[in-house]
Amino acid sequence: MPDPVQAISVPERTLMGPGPSNCPPSVLTAMAQPTVGHLDPWFVERMNEVQAMLRAVMRTENRLTLPISATGSAGMETCLVNLIEPGDRCVVGVNGVFGQRMSDIVQRAGGELVRVEAPWGRPLDSADIEAAVKAGPTKLVAVVHAETSTGVLQPLEEVSRIAREHGALFVVDAVTSLGGHAVLVDEWGIDACYSGTQKCLSVPPGLAPVSFSDRAVEALRARKTKVQSWYLDLNMICSYWGEDRVYHHTAPINMIYALHEGLRLILGEGLEARWERHRRNHELLKSGLAELGMELLPKAEDSLWTLNAVRLPEGVDDLPARKALLVRFGLEVGGGLGDLKGKIWRVGLMGHNSTERNVTLFLSAARAVL
Ligand SMILES: *Cc1c(COP(=O)(O)O)cnc(C)c1O
Repeated sequence: MPDPVQAISVPERTLMGPGPSNCPPSVLTAMAQPTVGHLDPWFVERMNEVQAMLRAVMRTENRLTLPISATGSAGMETCLVNLIEPGDRCVVGVNGVFGQRMSDIVQRAGGELVRVEAPWGRPLDSADIEAAVKAGPTKLVAVVHAETSTGVLQPLEEVSRIAREHGALFVVDAVTSLGGHAVLVDEWGIDACYSGTQKCLSVPPGLAPVSFSDRAVEALRARKTKVQSWYLDLNMICSYWGEDRVYHHTAPINMIYALHEGLRLILGEGLEARWERHRRNHELLKSGLAELGMELLPKAEDSLWTLNAVRLPEGVDDLPARKALLVRFGLEVGGGLGDLKGKIWRVGLMGHNSTERNVTLFLSAARAVL
Protein backbone atom coordinates (compact mmCIF):
# COMPACT_ATOMS: atom_id res chain seq x y z
CA MET A 1 0.00 0.00 0.00
CA PRO A 2 1.52 3.36 -1.03
CA ASP A 3 1.67 5.98 1.73
CA PRO A 4 -0.35 8.12 1.33
CA VAL A 5 -2.79 6.14 -0.83
CA GLN A 6 -3.64 8.08 -4.00
CA ALA A 7 -7.22 8.94 -4.92
CA ILE A 8 -8.49 6.69 -7.70
CA SER A 9 -8.12 7.85 -11.27
CA VAL A 10 -10.20 5.61 -13.52
CA PRO A 11 -8.73 4.68 -16.92
CA GLU A 12 -10.79 5.31 -20.05
CA ARG A 13 -12.43 2.09 -21.16
CA THR A 14 -14.90 1.04 -23.80
CA LEU A 15 -16.73 -1.89 -22.25
CA MET A 16 -17.68 -4.27 -25.05
CA GLY A 17 -17.71 -7.44 -22.99
CA PRO A 18 -20.59 -9.40 -21.45
CA GLY A 19 -21.28 -6.55 -18.98
CA PRO A 20 -20.94 -4.12 -17.38
CA SER A 21 -21.45 -1.66 -20.22
CA ASN A 22 -20.56 2.04 -20.14
CA CYS A 23 -23.10 4.35 -18.52
CA PRO A 24 -24.40 7.53 -20.16
CA PRO A 25 -22.89 10.60 -18.45
CA SER A 26 -26.25 11.72 -17.04
CA VAL A 27 -26.60 8.37 -15.23
CA LEU A 28 -23.28 8.96 -13.48
CA THR A 29 -24.25 12.55 -12.70
CA ALA A 30 -27.56 11.38 -11.20
CA MET A 31 -25.64 8.92 -9.03
CA ALA A 32 -23.37 11.62 -7.70
CA GLN A 33 -26.31 13.64 -6.26
CA PRO A 34 -26.55 13.92 -2.46
CA THR A 35 -27.82 10.90 -0.59
CA VAL A 36 -31.15 11.46 1.18
CA GLY A 37 -32.96 9.28 3.72
CA HIS A 38 -34.52 6.17 2.24
CA LEU A 39 -37.94 7.01 3.71
CA ASP A 40 -37.73 10.69 2.75
CA PRO A 41 -41.05 11.61 1.06
CA TRP A 42 -39.13 13.04 -1.91
CA PHE A 43 -37.24 9.76 -2.34
CA VAL A 44 -40.40 7.68 -1.97
CA GLU A 45 -41.83 9.58 -4.96
CA ARG A 46 -38.71 8.70 -6.98
CA MET A 47 -39.14 5.01 -5.99
CA ASN A 48 -42.69 5.14 -7.34
CA GLU A 49 -41.44 6.63 -10.60
CA VAL A 50 -38.79 3.92 -10.91
CA GLN A 51 -41.49 1.26 -10.52
CA ALA A 52 -43.74 2.92 -13.11
CA MET A 53 -40.85 3.24 -15.59
CA LEU A 54 -39.80 -0.38 -15.00
CA ARG A 55 -43.33 -1.54 -15.82
CA ALA A 56 -43.15 0.41 -19.09
CA VAL A 57 -39.73 -1.01 -20.01
CA MET A 58 -40.79 -4.57 -19.12
CA ARG A 59 -44.13 -4.11 -20.92
CA THR A 60 -46.18 -5.19 -17.93
CA GLU A 61 -48.98 -4.04 -15.66
CA ASN A 62 -47.68 -6.22 -12.81
CA ARG A 63 -47.99 -4.37 -9.50
CA LEU A 64 -45.11 -6.38 -8.11
CA THR A 65 -42.39 -4.80 -10.24
CA LEU A 66 -39.36 -3.42 -8.42
CA PRO A 67 -35.56 -3.48 -8.33
CA ILE A 68 -33.91 -5.91 -5.90
CA SER A 69 -30.95 -4.33 -4.10
CA ALA A 70 -28.22 -6.53 -5.58
CA THR A 71 -26.92 -7.67 -8.99
CA GLY A 72 -28.65 -9.77 -11.67
CA SER A 73 -27.85 -13.06 -9.95
CA ALA A 74 -29.90 -11.88 -6.97
CA GLY A 75 -32.78 -11.27 -9.36
CA MET A 76 -32.44 -14.91 -10.45
CA GLU A 77 -32.32 -16.08 -6.85
CA THR A 78 -35.30 -13.88 -5.89
CA CYS A 79 -37.53 -15.35 -8.59
CA LEU A 80 -36.57 -18.91 -7.77
CA VAL A 81 -36.50 -18.93 -3.95
CA ASN A 82 -39.81 -17.09 -3.66
CA LEU A 83 -41.59 -19.60 -5.92
CA ILE A 84 -39.95 -22.89 -4.97
CA GLU A 85 -40.90 -24.91 -1.92
CA PRO A 86 -39.06 -28.11 -1.00
CA GLY A 87 -39.95 -30.93 -3.39
CA ASP A 88 -41.37 -28.70 -6.14
CA ARG A 89 -40.58 -30.04 -9.60
CA CYS A 90 -38.75 -27.41 -11.67
CA VAL A 91 -37.91 -27.75 -15.37
CA VAL A 92 -34.84 -25.67 -16.22
CA GLY A 93 -33.43 -25.08 -19.70
CA VAL A 94 -29.65 -25.45 -19.75
CA ASN A 95 -27.63 -24.41 -22.82
CA GLY A 96 -25.02 -22.25 -21.15
CA VAL A 97 -23.63 -20.88 -17.90
CA PHE A 98 -26.75 -19.07 -16.73
CA GLY A 99 -29.06 -22.06 -17.12
CA GLN A 100 -26.53 -23.95 -15.01
CA ARG A 101 -26.66 -21.20 -12.38
CA MET A 102 -30.48 -21.46 -12.26
CA SER A 103 -30.17 -25.24 -11.81
CA ASP A 104 -27.80 -24.74 -8.90
CA ILE A 105 -30.23 -22.35 -7.19
CA VAL A 106 -33.20 -24.71 -7.76
CA GLN A 107 -31.32 -27.48 -5.97
CA ARG A 108 -30.21 -25.22 -3.12
CA ALA A 109 -33.84 -24.16 -2.67
CA GLY A 110 -34.82 -27.82 -2.30
CA GLY A 111 -36.58 -28.08 -5.66
CA GLU A 112 -36.60 -31.27 -7.73
CA LEU A 113 -34.44 -30.28 -10.70
CA VAL A 114 -35.30 -31.51 -14.20
CA ARG A 115 -32.72 -30.26 -16.71
CA VAL A 116 -33.60 -29.85 -20.38
CA GLU A 117 -30.40 -29.44 -22.33
CA ALA A 118 -29.32 -28.14 -25.71
CA PRO A 119 -25.76 -27.87 -27.06
CA TRP A 120 -24.02 -24.60 -26.16
CA GLY A 121 -24.62 -22.25 -29.09
CA ARG A 122 -28.09 -23.63 -29.87
CA PRO A 123 -31.49 -22.64 -28.43
CA LEU A 124 -33.58 -25.11 -26.45
CA ASP A 125 -36.02 -27.28 -28.38
CA SER A 126 -39.56 -26.65 -27.14
CA ALA A 127 -40.49 -30.29 -27.83
CA ASP A 128 -37.88 -31.34 -25.23
CA ILE A 129 -39.35 -28.86 -22.75
CA GLU A 130 -42.86 -30.14 -23.41
CA ALA A 131 -41.77 -33.75 -22.84
CA ALA A 132 -40.14 -32.80 -19.53
CA VAL A 133 -43.18 -30.82 -18.34
CA LYS A 134 -45.56 -33.67 -19.29
CA ALA A 135 -43.53 -36.20 -17.31
CA GLY A 136 -44.76 -34.95 -13.93
CA PRO A 137 -46.63 -32.19 -12.09
CA THR A 138 -44.43 -29.14 -12.60
CA LYS A 139 -44.25 -26.01 -10.44
CA LEU A 140 -42.24 -23.90 -12.85
CA VAL A 141 -40.39 -23.78 -16.15
CA ALA A 142 -37.32 -21.52 -16.22
CA VAL A 143 -35.31 -20.43 -19.25
CA VAL A 144 -32.70 -17.83 -20.13
CA HIS A 145 -33.91 -15.43 -22.82
CA ALA A 146 -30.44 -14.18 -23.76
CA GLU A 147 -27.66 -16.67 -22.90
CA THR A 148 -24.70 -14.37 -22.39
CA SER A 149 -22.23 -17.26 -22.37
CA THR A 150 -23.08 -18.32 -25.94
CA GLY A 151 -24.84 -15.36 -27.61
CA VAL A 152 -28.05 -17.35 -28.18
CA LEU A 153 -31.57 -15.86 -28.14
CA GLN A 154 -34.26 -18.22 -26.83
CA PRO A 155 -37.75 -17.77 -28.34
CA LEU A 156 -40.22 -17.60 -25.44
CA GLU A 157 -43.78 -17.75 -26.69
CA GLU A 158 -43.91 -21.50 -27.32
CA VAL A 159 -42.31 -22.28 -23.94
CA SER A 160 -44.83 -19.97 -22.28
CA ARG A 161 -47.72 -21.83 -23.91
CA ILE A 162 -46.35 -25.18 -22.70
CA ALA A 163 -45.92 -23.92 -19.13
CA ARG A 164 -49.43 -22.45 -19.03
CA GLU A 165 -51.09 -25.53 -20.55
CA HIS A 166 -49.63 -27.66 -17.78
CA GLY A 167 -50.29 -25.26 -14.92
CA ALA A 168 -46.64 -24.34 -14.40
CA LEU A 169 -45.25 -20.88 -13.74
CA PHE A 170 -42.96 -19.41 -16.41
CA VAL A 171 -39.70 -17.85 -15.17
CA VAL A 172 -37.45 -15.88 -17.55
CA ASP A 173 -33.91 -14.51 -17.24
CA ALA A 174 -33.91 -11.24 -19.20
CA VAL A 175 -30.60 -9.93 -17.87
CA THR A 176 -28.97 -9.48 -21.31
CA SER A 177 -32.15 -8.84 -23.29
CA LEU A 178 -34.06 -6.16 -21.35
CA GLY A 179 -33.33 -2.82 -23.03
CA GLY A 180 -31.84 -4.44 -26.16
CA HIS A 181 -34.39 -6.98 -27.40
CA ALA A 182 -38.16 -6.99 -26.98
CA VAL A 183 -39.13 -8.39 -23.57
CA LEU A 184 -42.94 -8.41 -23.48
CA VAL A 185 -43.70 -9.70 -20.00
CA ASP A 186 -47.52 -9.56 -20.19
CA GLU A 187 -47.98 -10.44 -23.86
CA TRP A 188 -45.67 -13.45 -23.56
CA GLY A 189 -47.25 -14.68 -20.32
CA ILE A 190 -44.10 -14.48 -18.23
CA ASP A 191 -44.87 -15.04 -14.54
CA ALA A 192 -41.53 -14.08 -13.03
CA CYS A 193 -38.97 -12.05 -14.94
CA TYR A 194 -35.66 -10.64 -13.73
CA SER A 195 -32.91 -8.51 -15.18
CA GLY A 196 -29.80 -6.60 -14.11
CA THR A 197 -28.89 -2.96 -14.44
CA GLN A 198 -25.39 -3.22 -15.89
CA LYS A 199 -26.11 -4.82 -19.24
CA CYS A 200 -28.52 -3.24 -21.74
CA LEU A 201 -29.98 -0.77 -19.22
CA SER A 202 -26.51 0.87 -19.02
CA VAL A 203 -26.65 1.61 -15.31
CA PRO A 204 -23.85 0.41 -12.98
CA PRO A 205 -24.12 -3.10 -11.49
CA GLY A 206 -26.04 -3.23 -8.24
CA LEU A 207 -29.77 -3.55 -8.92
CA ALA A 208 -31.91 -6.37 -10.33
CA PRO A 209 -35.36 -5.43 -11.65
CA VAL A 210 -37.93 -8.20 -11.08
CA SER A 211 -41.59 -8.51 -12.01
CA PHE A 212 -44.16 -11.05 -10.73
CA SER A 213 -47.53 -11.76 -12.39
CA ASP A 214 -50.70 -12.22 -10.34
CA ARG A 215 -50.31 -15.99 -10.71
CA ALA A 216 -46.79 -15.80 -9.30
CA VAL A 217 -47.96 -13.57 -6.44
CA GLU A 218 -50.70 -16.13 -5.65
CA ALA A 219 -48.09 -18.89 -5.53
CA LEU A 220 -46.02 -16.75 -3.18
CA ARG A 221 -49.00 -16.07 -0.89
CA ALA A 222 -49.97 -19.76 -0.89
CA ARG A 223 -46.58 -20.95 0.39
CA LYS A 224 -46.67 -23.37 3.31
CA THR A 225 -43.02 -22.74 4.15
CA LYS A 226 -41.09 -19.53 4.71
CA VAL A 227 -38.88 -18.22 1.89
CA GLN A 228 -35.38 -19.55 2.65
CA SER A 229 -33.74 -16.16 2.17
CA TRP A 230 -34.52 -13.34 4.59
CA TYR A 231 -33.01 -10.65 2.34
CA LEU A 232 -34.79 -11.75 -0.84
CA ASP A 233 -38.20 -12.55 0.69
CA LEU A 234 -40.61 -10.63 -1.55
CA ASN A 235 -43.35 -10.63 1.10
CA MET A 236 -41.22 -8.28 3.20
CA ILE A 237 -39.66 -6.39 0.28
CA CYS A 238 -43.17 -5.60 -1.00
CA SER A 239 -44.11 -4.03 2.32
CA TYR A 240 -41.10 -1.77 1.93
CA TRP A 241 -41.76 -0.83 -1.73
CA GLY A 242 -45.54 -0.85 -1.22
CA GLU A 243 -47.82 1.65 0.53
CA ASP A 244 -46.77 0.69 4.06
CA ARG A 245 -43.07 1.52 3.59
CA VAL A 246 -42.15 -0.89 6.38
CA TYR A 247 -38.39 -0.78 6.89
CA HIS A 248 -36.75 -3.94 5.57
CA HIS A 249 -33.31 -2.86 4.37
CA THR A 250 -31.91 0.50 3.31
CA ALA A 251 -32.38 0.91 -0.43
CA PRO A 252 -29.11 1.82 -2.20
CA ILE A 253 -30.37 5.39 -2.68
CA ASN A 254 -27.80 6.58 -5.22
CA MET A 255 -28.20 3.42 -7.32
CA ILE A 256 -31.94 4.17 -7.47
CA TYR A 257 -31.08 7.65 -8.78
CA ALA A 258 -28.95 6.00 -11.46
CA LEU A 259 -31.68 3.55 -12.46
CA HIS A 260 -34.22 6.39 -12.52
CA GLU A 261 -32.10 8.26 -15.05
CA GLY A 262 -31.25 5.12 -17.06
CA LEU A 263 -34.93 4.19 -17.44
CA ARG A 264 -35.87 7.79 -18.27
CA LEU A 265 -33.34 7.76 -21.12
CA ILE A 266 -34.64 4.43 -22.44
CA LEU A 267 -38.25 5.64 -22.52
CA GLY A 268 -37.08 8.89 -24.09
CA GLU A 269 -35.42 6.97 -26.91
CA GLY A 270 -38.47 4.70 -27.28
CA LEU A 271 -38.33 0.92 -26.83
CA GLU A 272 -38.92 0.02 -30.48
CA ALA A 273 -36.26 2.50 -31.65
CA ARG A 274 -33.85 1.07 -29.12
CA TRP A 275 -34.43 -2.54 -30.19
CA GLU A 276 -33.96 -1.48 -33.81
CA ARG A 277 -30.68 0.28 -32.94
CA HIS A 278 -29.42 -2.95 -31.34
CA ARG A 279 -30.45 -4.98 -34.41
CA ARG A 280 -28.78 -2.56 -36.80
CA ASN A 281 -25.45 -2.45 -34.98
CA HIS A 282 -25.40 -6.23 -34.61
CA GLU A 283 -25.89 -6.55 -38.39
CA LEU A 284 -23.14 -4.03 -38.96
CA LEU A 285 -20.77 -6.00 -36.75
CA LYS A 286 -21.68 -9.24 -38.49
CA SER A 287 -20.87 -7.90 -41.94
CA GLY A 288 -17.60 -6.40 -40.67
CA LEU A 289 -16.65 -9.75 -39.14
CA ALA A 290 -17.35 -11.50 -42.43
CA GLU A 291 -14.87 -9.15 -44.13
CA LEU A 292 -12.29 -10.18 -41.53
CA GLY A 293 -13.07 -13.85 -42.21
CA MET A 294 -14.67 -14.30 -38.79
CA GLU A 295 -18.11 -15.60 -37.87
CA LEU A 296 -20.52 -15.96 -34.98
CA LEU A 297 -20.97 -19.14 -32.95
CA PRO A 298 -24.80 -19.31 -33.17
CA LYS A 299 -26.73 -19.47 -36.43
CA ALA A 300 -27.83 -16.06 -37.72
CA GLU A 301 -31.47 -16.62 -36.71
CA ASP A 302 -30.47 -17.62 -33.15
CA SER A 303 -28.02 -14.77 -32.55
CA LEU A 304 -28.44 -12.10 -29.92
CA TRP A 305 -28.10 -8.47 -30.96
CA THR A 306 -26.72 -7.52 -27.55
CA LEU A 307 -23.95 -10.11 -27.14
CA ASN A 308 -22.01 -11.48 -30.10
CA ALA A 309 -20.16 -14.76 -29.58
CA VAL A 310 -17.37 -14.45 -32.18
CA ARG A 311 -15.35 -17.54 -33.14
CA LEU A 312 -11.62 -16.88 -32.91
CA PRO A 313 -9.60 -17.72 -36.04
CA GLU A 314 -7.30 -20.78 -35.78
CA GLY A 315 -3.99 -20.02 -34.12
CA VAL A 316 -5.06 -16.85 -32.29
CA ASP A 317 -3.87 -16.80 -28.69
CA ASP A 318 -6.93 -15.53 -26.78
CA LEU A 319 -5.44 -13.91 -23.66
CA PRO A 320 -2.57 -11.91 -25.22
CA ALA A 321 -4.89 -10.70 -27.99
CA ARG A 322 -7.52 -9.49 -25.52
CA LYS A 323 -4.81 -7.88 -23.43
CA ALA A 324 -3.60 -6.00 -26.51
CA LEU A 325 -7.13 -4.72 -27.14
CA LEU A 326 -7.23 -3.38 -23.60
CA VAL A 327 -3.74 -1.85 -23.51
CA ARG A 328 -3.65 -0.41 -27.03
CA PHE A 329 -7.29 0.59 -27.46
CA GLY A 330 -8.81 0.71 -23.96
CA LEU A 331 -11.25 -1.87 -25.29
CA GLU A 332 -12.64 -4.66 -23.14
CA VAL A 333 -14.21 -7.78 -24.65
CA GLY A 334 -15.03 -11.04 -22.86
CA GLY A 335 -13.45 -14.47 -23.30
CA GLY A 336 -15.30 -17.76 -23.61
CA LEU A 337 -16.53 -19.73 -20.60
CA GLY A 338 -16.35 -23.49 -19.99
CA ASP A 339 -15.71 -25.47 -23.19
CA LEU A 340 -15.70 -22.23 -25.18
CA LYS A 341 -12.68 -20.85 -23.30
CA GLY A 342 -10.01 -19.77 -25.79
CA LYS A 343 -12.41 -20.40 -28.70
CA ILE A 344 -14.67 -17.35 -28.74
CA TRP A 345 -14.74 -13.69 -27.82
CA ARG A 346 -17.90 -12.27 -26.34
CA VAL A 347 -18.45 -8.86 -27.88
CA GLY A 348 -21.20 -6.85 -26.22
CA LEU A 349 -23.19 -4.14 -27.99
CA MET A 350 -25.37 -3.29 -25.03
CA GLY A 351 -27.53 -0.24 -24.39
CA HIS A 352 -25.52 2.98 -24.53
CA ASN A 353 -22.67 1.01 -26.13
CA SER A 354 -24.59 -0.27 -29.13
CA THR A 355 -23.27 2.33 -31.59
CA GLU A 356 -21.80 2.37 -35.07
CA ARG A 357 -18.73 4.04 -33.54
CA ASN A 358 -18.11 1.09 -31.21
CA VAL A 359 -18.62 -1.45 -34.00
CA THR A 360 -15.99 0.36 -36.06
CA LEU A 361 -13.65 0.63 -33.08
CA PHE A 362 -13.89 -3.10 -32.39
CA LEU A 363 -13.41 -4.11 -36.02
CA SER A 364 -10.36 -1.94 -36.56
CA ALA A 365 -8.84 -2.87 -33.19
CA ALA A 366 -9.41 -6.56 -33.92
CA ARG A 367 -7.78 -6.16 -37.34
CA ALA A 368 -4.78 -4.56 -35.65
CA VAL A 369 -4.21 -7.21 -32.97
CA LEU A 370 -5.13 -10.44 -34.79
C1 LIG B 1 -24.85 -11.24 -16.20
C2 LIG B 1 -25.93 -12.25 -16.16
C3 LIG B 1 -26.48 -12.70 -14.95
C4 LIG B 1 -25.93 -12.33 -13.62
O1 LIG B 1 -25.89 -10.96 -13.38
P1 LIG B 1 -24.84 -10.37 -12.34
O2 LIG B 1 -25.18 -8.92 -12.37
O3 LIG B 1 -23.48 -10.69 -12.86
O4 LIG B 1 -25.09 -10.98 -11.02
C5 LIG B 1 -27.54 -13.59 -15.01
N1 LIG B 1 -28.03 -14.02 -16.18
C6 LIG B 1 -27.52 -13.62 -17.37
C7 LIG B 1 -28.11 -14.13 -18.64
C8 LIG B 1 -26.45 -12.72 -17.38
O5 LIG B 1 -25.95 -12.32 -18.55
